[in-house]
Amino acid sequence: MTENSELQGFYKLPMERRRELLKKAASLSDEEVMIIANTGGLPAETADHMIENVVGGYTYPLGIATNFRINGTDYLVPMALEEPSVVAAASNAAKMARVKGGFEVSNTGPVMIGQIQVVNVPKPEAARAKLIDRKGDLLKKANDQDPMLVSLGGGAKDLNVKVLSTLKGPMVVAELIVNTGDAMGANAVNTMAEAVAPMVEEITGGRVFLRIISNLADRRLVRASAVFEKEAIGGEDVVDGIVYAYAFADADPYRCATHNKGIMNGVVAVGIACGQDIRALEAGAHSYASRSGKYKPLTTWEKNRDGDLVGSLEMPMAVGLVGGAAKTHPAARANIKILGVKTAVELAEVMGAVGLAQNFAALRALASEGIQRGHMKLHARNVAISAGAKGEFIDLVAKRMIEERKIRFDRAKELVAELSKQGKKR
Ligand code: NAD
Repeated sequence: MTENSELQGFYKLPMERRRELLKKAASLSDEEVMIIANTGGLPAETADHMIENVVGGYTYPLGIATNFRINGTDYLVPMALEEPSVVAAASNAAKMARVKGGFEVSNTGPVMIGQIQVVNVPKPEAARAKLIDRKGDLLKKANDQDPMLVSLGGGAKDLNVKVLSTLKGPMVVAELIVNTGDAMGANAVNTMAEAVAPMVEEITGGRVFLRIISNLADRRLVRASAVFEKEAIGGEDVVDGIVYAYAFADADPYRCATHNKGIMNGVVAVGIACGQDIRALEAGAHSYASRSGKYKPLTTWEKNRDGDLVGSLEMPMAVGLVGGAAKTHPAARANIKILGVKTAVELAEVMGAVGLAQNFAALRALASEGIQRGHMKLHARNVAISAGAKGEFIDLVAKRMIEERKIRFDRAKELVAELSKQGKKR
């Protein structure tokens, strides 16, 4: 809360001056201002150009998931996120998948959809036919906007037109089908959609409002699969437990939301590390999961003839290596180098494999010892840190809380006070 949030001309000020105003408005201490000011590996000037009203930076821990073998190639996977256990779970799942050769992945190509909404069309079905007739001209207009993309083999490849029945009457929607190459493509596709809009108005006799990419990237799918040997994952009971867990998610959206959230733990963490638009990834994932009208899991789990567990994933994965933060953020560039991916579809495939691994790890824990045991240690450490434990005290306080089965902030505070009093080091 602040007295007045109308910080006139805030956007025009240099970053330092914005911080001064903020310090006053939010009653920040010098230390708090210093923490916010730190942009980590991102130069302050770059940060200032990436978004608006920049006052500093915000850093996530960066972990490296190990053991990943994907289409016969090994990868070290950078993951940036705040949640404990995710990196360990991914590494562990990847280790178990290695027994049967790791992950197999494929993709449907980097194809995005740009939508142009036309309202007040006198004859919607006739307009639809006319737009299809003029497909060649419309695609040419779209491609004229991005000679670079076209020269690389990408560009607008097709046109789809549909007539929607909406709350405001019939609506014609023209969809540009664009191969965006190594770009995520939102800017490229939006530019094309805006450029063809006047032509669409002229052809349909209607009025264009929205001209924007769709994040339901169902033409940009990634598929991943893996076989988990039953002995390697804890036996037949674990296999059965995971298959039951999948059936639960398939039948119930309340469970399914958490099932898919587990997949996104991995996808989003790699996405953040590699400078991707994770809002687009989330929107794509959940809209794709709902495409049948019922919210469904993005993975399937079954038992094969040998009694081993087979998992597969299919989901949209709109990621890029050129454009956006993947290009401007130096940490994203370093992480892409760690991963070693050379194309956007390779990045998408790796992220699909990580999503599948993450889902496996969560289901395995849930179907056996429960999720909390694995989480406890890290959770206890976080509680200890938030209660003020430093250095060696962090593990001491965490250990005591786990032993006492009291992982609580108040207990952590007591233990920190107790240990500090004793001056105990070990
Ligand atoms: P961009 O426009 O910065 O880069 C894409 C351009 O790079 C292409 O148009 C092409 O001209 C050029 N290019 C050079 N080499 C290429 C190659 N090998 N393959 C493909 N293109 C190549 O970025 P973008 O990917 O079009 O847009 C991504 C950004 O758009 C993200 O930052 C995202 O957050 C933002 N955005 C997202 C949405 C959304 O709804 N998801 C909406 C608006 C903007």
